[in-house]
Amino acid sequence: MPYFAGFQLKGNWGLSSEVELSSPQIFKEASASGASLLFTPTISLRDPLESDERAYVRFKLISEGPEGAVLLTRPLSASVDEVRALLTQEYGDSKVVLSFAVSSFAEAQQLLEEVGLKPDAYELDANLTCLLSGKGVAYAFEMAKELSATLAKPLIVKFSAASANLIDLERIVADSGAAAIVITPNVVYRIGNHFFRLSTPPWLSTPLLFSLAERLSELDISVAYVVQYGKGDLLELVPLKLYDASYILHWMRWKGSGRARASAAPLAWSSISKKLKVYARKGASYCPYGLIRGEGFVEGCNYCGACLELNEPGLVELAALISP
Ligand code: SF4
Repeated sequence: MPYFAGFQLKGNWGLSSEVELSSPQIFKEASASGASLLFTPTISLRDPLESDERAYVRFKLISEGPEGAVLLTRPLSASVDEVRALLTQEYGDSKVVLSFAVSSFAEAQQLLEEVGLKPDAYELDANLTCLLSGKGVAYAFEMAKELSATLAKPLIVKFSAASANLIDLERIVADSGAAAIVITPNVVYRIGNHFFRLSTPPWLSTPLLFSLAERLSELDISVAYVVQYGKGDLLELVPLKLYDASYILHWMRWKGSGRARASAAPLAWSSISKKLKVYARKGASYCPYGLIRGEGFVEGCNYCGACLELNEPGLVELAALISP
């Protein structure tokens, strides 16, 4: 069984912090199905698109077809309260990792104080930290060094395979004091206040991970790899897999619409007036929070947008409740 960040794990898979819809049901069931590591969605001090009047969706299906799905999710959209709710559940012998991104060490202290709960370990997302701070990946590793010297639990650093090619990996990882690293083939980017994470199918992402294999094998540190959910000859070689946002589709048993479709990646997340409610018709499903239970208005919705993307047109609509 793999050894990671000081933990002897019960299995070789878990949920990455890229499962950005903070569903307690997904966490619970993944743990019961054998997930050894549960990373929370990455949080920061605030959601950059926070608004009292409008909600911004968190999930978009860019394309589907025989090669797999391309998904877009909105990092930093989970609130401290949502992540605290995840941290207060019991997960047996699964380890829980709190993922965060900040622009400074002081922000990290403030954020962890606000969370106020102790996970089994922490994850610093280096690429989101770069986007928040406007600085390079070396700055994120400097912050990791400060954090790992002060945190009472192990610190894991996550960064993209693309940025690994830009740094002196061996030196910078050793200097950071990280207990383990997570490598993702998926990219994060921002346009204004809109943050995006693009999850791509294995045929596109796996070669990027394997191009790093030799350099990573020389590191004296345990490594986990973010991959899309599914089986594949190459993916079976990965010693510790953390599933990305595609796990949400698996959890909801989404089989695809049966037709090839593709849309351009948006330049901004679409928003929904909070005066509107999701109305589900007979046959609608695909809510990561398990809120769609037959026909009617959905209560407690956080407007993640998954049901609007994945159901056939007309099954889910936005409607206003009008009082007489
Ligand atoms: S009802 Fe739809 S928009 Fe609301 S939480 Fe569920 S999937 Fe997301």
